[in-house]
Amino acid sequence: MSQDALVKRQFGHRARLALSPAGVRAADDQAHAARTMWNLLHAWWRMMPKEKRTLANADAAIRQARQDIGFLAVLPAQAAQAVLKTDVRAWKNCWEGRADAPNFKGRLRTVMSVDIPQGRDLNITRVHRRWGMASIPKVGRVRFRWTKDLPVGKHANTENRITGARLVKDALGWHIAFRVQTLHSRPEPHQGPDIGIDVGVTVPIALSDGETYEHGEWLTGKEKARLLHLEQRAAQRKRHRRPGERTSRRLHHTYDQIAGLRAKAKRRALDWQHKTTTAIARTYGTVVVEALTITNMVKSAKGTVEEPGKNVAQKSGLNRSISGEAWGRTITMLAYKTAQLGGTLVKVPAPGTSRRCSACGHTTPGSRESQAVFVCKNPDCGWSGNADHNAARNVLHLYRMGLALIPVAGRAVVRRAKRVKPAAAR
Ligand SMILES: [Zn+2]
Repeated sequence: MSQDALVKRQFGHRARLALSPAGVRAADDQAHAARTMWNLLHAWWRMMPKEKRTLANADAAIRQARQDIGFLAVLPAQAAQAVLKTDVRAWKNCWEGRADAPNFKGRLRTVMSVDIPQGRDLNITRVHRRWGMASIPKVGRVRFRWTKDLPVGKHANTENRITGARLVKDALGWHIAFRVQTLHSRPEPHQGPDIGIDVGVTVPIALSDGETYEHGEWLTGKEKARLLHLEQRAAQRKRHRRPGERTSRRLHHTYDQIAGLRAKAKRRALDWQHKTTTAIARTYGTVVVEALTITNMVKSAKGTVEEPGKNVAQKSGLNRSISGEAWGRTITMLAYKTAQLGGTLVKVPAPGTSRRCSACGHTTPGSRESQAVFVCKNPDCGWSGNADHNAARNVLHLYRMGLALIPVAGRAVVRRAKRVKPAAAR
């Protein structure tokens, strides 16, 4: 097989760890140490004069800190190095305009995590149909749920292997997220039809052929009532706390319960997204979506002090619905799933897709009669139908007109060009 017929794939796989209580404590300690390391490094970086802020100096500072501060020594040296690497990456993202400047990490707001940068340290084996084992530095051999065939043991080679992992704690406890790299043959081009997709709040996903994918509420009525009750209780406990007083054990417990319910909702949403995107990627060859800038869409509820927003409560409610649908994640899943199955995902510019009539092509005022109904006001046309299908058909139309913006590959990242001064200005 020629090299061209092979594609490299990098993906993450998350598995639940079965840690003993002592293991949980050890992992917690490591995560706290990693966060402290980050904060120390951040303070060091800001305090140092510019010419002394070098990687070598930062590295030396980390080594010194691990010697001087006892509780930092629980963090494996490799994980401490990974903190530095993440910090450097965060600054680069900031300088290149992709993210805000990194900041200190608070104890309660930060996801507990520890990096294991070297895959070969993990020494993964499969011990049972449903269990694998991995060595976690300074914790020991730990079982994890085996739900996907990983390239380990005699299946591993230079092209197919686990390149590293990260321990992450969420409401269900500690998990391990493997970084997997595989090389496999390029899939046959998908022969399925083209499809346009409109994402929305009332109908989560509407396809141009009339199909819709909908979901109910993520939490049942009972669970929602319980979540509200817990949130109110937490707010009340917080109100009655005296200034400077530590967060009580009870309040922490309530926070944990809230996090548990929210995590449950998120798991259900993820499950639905996976099933839906897999079905779409299997059925259709070319999937066309709108190029949405979700951050702009949800930005302006409160507005700024100079320009306060209008309809703040309504808009923030809509923002919550937009964020709740997690379209960005749906698109990400579609991107890699279509690529894996030989299809393509294409983005087209979004403006006007909900107002244009997909039958005659005219955009007439007032044609979007409600969230759900579209009635064309062009006297020669008068087409009426579901507003979301209309939008999806417009999306597909824009693609067929050749307006595709970016053919989105599996992991394609469109980088903003670095701002370079013109030669004359230097
Ligand atoms: Zn029309």
